[in-house]
Amino acid sequence: MAVSAKRRIGVMGGTFDPIHHGHLVAASEVAQSFDLDEVIFVPTGQPWQKSNVTESEHRYLMTVIATASNPRFTVSRVDVDREGFTYTVDTLRELKAALPDADLFFISGADAVEQILSWKDVDRLWELAHFIAVSRPGHELSLSGLSGEHVSLLEVPALAISSTDCRSRVARGFPVWYLVPDGVVQYIAKHKLYTDGSDGSDE
Ligand code: ATP
Repeated sequence: MAVSAKRRIGVMGGTFDPIHHGHLVAASEVAQSFDLDEVIFVPTGQPWQKSNVTESEHRYLMTVIATASNPRFTVSRVDVDREGFTYTVDTLRELKAALPDADLFFISGADAVEQILSWKDVDRLWELAHFIAVSRPGHELSLSGLSGEHVSLLEVPALAISSTDCRSRVARGFPVWYLVPDGVVQYIAKHKLYTDGSDGSDE
């Protein structure tokens, strides 16, 4: 009797404030290189490292719009629907409970992976998912003290785009066309997001 292979599912966590093409290219490249069946984008609720983030429903809907054209991309509400701060260990625990037979691959940029040892319950993280760190302009891609057993590195096409810069551009009246998907440009304009002059950064 043929044994069906385990599903391989990527998990792309992020604030997505707003989602941009850097996120989408990273997820697409990892899906290709690691033979993933699906990538689940998981917008955070209130991230524990950031303040002043845009209402989660807006970030969730922009993520739905941005991923709609790719049949391998889906969006989860697990973090936006959870009270309190978002910790990756809670995200992965919940997804693993819902998908007990899948192998999970958590996708993270080189900047985020530098911080991973400070994340909550790091030992549990390694049990729940394999981590894939992708290159990001301005950040060195290296294991920096992490074990290759738990973390893989992947070079992806370099897009020097950040959500901080997108917010700042909108606030200054600069376009974000081609930095974020067209539908996200339209959503930002319709809901007048990022026009208050704050770039949402913690500084
Ligand atoms: P902000 O500027 O608000 O901090 P961000 O652009 O870093 O936001 P996040 O939503 O915080 O976006 O990022 C989610 C994940 O995507 C993180 O792991 C981050 O490292 C990764 N990422 C973000 N932008 C890029 C990019 N241009 N190339 C590769 N990875 C990226």
